[in-house]
Amino acid sequence: MIRKPMVPTRHSFKPIKPLRISEEVAQQLKQSILVGHFKPGERLPTERDLSEQFQVSRAATREALRVLENAGFVVTRQGATGGAYVTDLTFDRTVNAFFDLFMAEKISIAEINYVRVLVEPDVARLAAERVNDEYVQKLKASMTEGMGPQFHFVLAEMCGNRFLEGLLRSTIDLIGKIVNAANVGYEHPVKDHKVLLDAVIAGDGEKAAEVMRKHAIANGESLMKVEKLFREKSHAPSAR
Ligand SMILES: [Zn+2]
Repeated sequence: MIRKPMVPTRHSFKPIKPLRISEEVAQQLKQSILVGHFKPGERLPTERDLSEQFQVSRAATREALRVLENAGFVVTRQGATGGAYVTDLTFDRTVNAFFDLFMAEKISIAEINYVRVLVEPDVARLAAERVNDEYVQKLKASMTEGMGPQFHFVLAEMCGNRFLEGLLRSTIDLIGKIVNAANVGYEHPVKDHKVLLDAVIAGDGEKAAEVMRKHAIANGESLMKVEKLFREKSHAPSAR
């Protein structure tokens, strides 16, 4: 007897996989976190309680929690007060995603820095327009050697647009991650920061923007060298 091969059609039904259940549990939990039913730092109900509420198996709940953890919504802590704790959502997830793209050679420092040159002068201009004593103290505290990125983070915080702040923070964090991974010796050039600081303190937005533009371009040129060395290193036969 010749059996007809099973050809899936557009309308064929697929068997329900147990995975669907855990996905749905994860989806509901994620929604509760997003609307604030569970706040950052708060512990989710125990695996047993969740299983009872959702009327699903412990395994499905465990899998759902694992999905949430991978997506960065919760962290699991061990011990007597252990459990799944809600994390504070940050732009870190963006950084990790872009870092993977960089590693896969789907974006380059030249492209990343191009965006930074577009964004950061405006951030510096906004920061100069919104300067106050508290920010001046913060900026001064980040003037020491080795705190290069910190100075940029304070300016980003000052700009008053959380999306712009997140975008710039992510860009600089991403560059930092790449520099760490490259491990070829690179120091952020902090000497321009003094001129930037003076312009921001003076409330001179135009000057701050102009200095930042030059600083970001110069920074990008050194970073492109870092990338070149890094790519060469990772393509060397010994690295495979
Ligand atoms: Zn800098």
